[in-house]
Amino acid sequence: MRRSAAGETVVVRNIARSDGSVSMAVPTIAIRDDDEILALYIPVETVALDNYAVPDGERAAAVGTLPSSRGRRHVGRRWQTSILRLHLPGEAFSVWLFPDGQGGVASWYGNLEAPFVRTPIGIDIRDHALDVVADGKGCWRWKDEDEFARRLETGIDTVEHQAAVRAAGQSFIARLETRHAPFDMSWEDWQAPAQWLPRDLPANWQDDFGTHARLR
Ligand SMILES: [Mg+2]
Repeated sequence: MRRSAAGETVVVRNIARSDGSVSMAVPTIAIRDDDEILALYIPVETVALDNYAVPDGERAAAVGTLPSSRGRRHVGRRWQTSILRLHLPGEAFSVWLFPDGQGGVASWYGNLEAPFVRTPIGIDIRDHALDVVADGKGCWRWKDEDEFARRLETGIDTVEHQAAVRAAGQSFIARLETRHAPFDMSWEDWQAPAQWLPRDLPANWQDDFGTHARLR
């Protein structure tokens, strides 16, 4: 699958572990796509569709619903701040940079997820529930431990799978603490071109691109 040129729309989708359906889709903009990193930009006001049970939070507000062909209902949520989403090929996490609005970083978010798989419209990932969140000074904590524990209790996850997820989180933390990629790449200084406005999802955003079995 080809790489994206800067400025192209890249659709990031989460593929449900249960049935391979699309549980989240967000249109992003490619900043850089090479052997080292896939860097994506999500402008404020971008509308993502998801069917997670997420309360209307600080960064998203519901803007309507859309029925899905797979029997789920997707809620449109408007992104309330611009973020960068940084994927290192082969790594089981992505790094989300939330700017503080003054040229610094409010938080670094380690979203633990299966290494991305390319599709004709962007990339597919699978979220692993557990996350790591760090402030601009690098002070970090695990996030959503409760949900992660519940997934083990209810048999959604195996012990082995969760050990691998935890190891990916440790890898994020090690990179953060030793200032390895992407933390040494000056992403906090990157400025979006003024003409990079929110993108729309393409009509085929729910298509099955055969990634379900390839996402761990
Ligand atoms: Mg997550």
